[in-house]
Amino acid sequence: MRILVIGGGAREHAICRSLSLDPEVGAVHCAPGNAGTAEVATPHAVDALDGEAVAALAASEEVSADLVVIGPEAPLVAGVADAVRARGIPVFGPSAEAAMLEGSKAFAKEIMAGAGVPTARSYVCTTPEEADTALDAFGPPYVVKDDGLAAGKGVVVTDDIEQARAHARACGGAVVIEEFLDGPEVSLFAVTDGETVVPLQPAQDFKRAYDADEGPNTGGMGAYSPLPWADPKLVDEITTTVLEPTVAELRRRGTPFSGLLYAGLALTSRGVRVIEFNARFGDPETQAVLARLRTPLGGLLYAAATGALADFPALRWSDGAAVTVVVAAHGYPAAPRTGDVIEGLDAIEREDGPRAYVLHAGTKADEDGTVRSAGGRVLSVTATGADLTEARDRAYAAVGRVRLAGSHHRKDIAERAAAGAVEG
Ligand code: AMP
Repeated sequence: MRILVIGGGAREHAICRSLSLDPEVGAVHCAPGNAGTAEVATPHAVDALDGEAVAALAASEEVSADLVVIGPEAPLVAGVADAVRARGIPVFGPSAEAAMLEGSKAFAKEIMAGAGVPTARSYVCTTPEEADTALDAFGPPYVVKDDGLAAGKGVVVTDDIEQARAHARACGGAVVIEEFLDGPEVSLFAVTDGETVVPLQPAQDFKRAYDADEGPNTGGMGAYSPLPWADPKLVDEITTTVLEPTVAELRRRGTPFSGLLYAGLALTSRGVRVIEFNARFGDPETQAVLARLRTPLGGLLYAAATGALADFPALRWSDGAAVTVVVAAHGYPAAPRTGDVIEGLDAIEREDGPRAYVLHAGTKADEDGTVRSAGGRVLSVTATGADLTEARDRAYAAVGRVRLAGSHHRKDIAERAAAGAVEG
């Protein structure tokens, strides 16, 4: 099997790495990729938002893809999966219409209402007056969300009514104002072909920039899997109350969803509630989840893309744990600095591999092979172990070898979970 992966973050590096370890996969290509994907996949330049360009690359003689895997949300919402499918090439990733589950929070609320899926009560507001009324109706803490894609930065949760109002106005178009959900947050991914839903193992991510959940929201500073503190029946419960009804509702409406359905959930005192859906693998949870998946990834994604999941064998997982720690650039998230030299990566491979390894995100290699930072989240250092304590120790030992001027990372990823407590 020949596979083309679209994207260039640590998530795509994790996907390319897993695909390259699948004995059924003969060639992995990645576009646009980064300095890390280039080690396991043939790099190509492409505008990832241009469906025709991606389809042409997939069909080209050099790539000749049997499967295209689309990593990020923006190409999905832009219809890149549709353009590739139109050429008769199987795609792992939903149509533009189905990707609106992530592309519009208002649409996601509509689907959840139709499917009877538990979520925060909410209002969709299009004027400042409507927003003010909704904020008053719920009271603090206020939750204000930009309706459209905002790369995880469109949500403000605050006790300050003026900040809540200001965000509602700053969003411009439609905003979703909703009830505050308490309790730990869980990310659950499921692979689906539009009918059959195959849940992966749950994970938790850490959104705030600094230790103890201080500082601004980010794309994610770390993750771990599994969740030793969670009820073993949690995945089954979420599958039957959230994932399957959502997939059935989208199918019923004539917009079947095939690809990766990501449910961000709050485990509230009143039960599980959906915080948001995403239409693709989450970053950084993917790095931790795929580190534990024993079933070869290529066959699983191909089965989803070709409607063959009903007959797919049960997934196999390692009994151990995985931890991912994100190394971020100086100034991230407000004003990340790029162009700094990254050193120490070969020492990680030598001293900590293969149970700890580096997944690249914002990196770029110079002609002479020097690797430099090229984005806010620079590296995802991932490690496995018999349990979370061992995986954490390995991950942090490896992070300690990274030399990147001004970089920062959280020191408390999975700390409480490793000690047997609930995170979040
Ligand atoms: P989202 O982009 O919808 O995942 O929101 C980003 C983050 O904001 C979530 O991971 C939560 O930590 C927080 N958040 C979103 N909605 C709510 C809510 N209704 N109640 C509490 N926190 C929320």
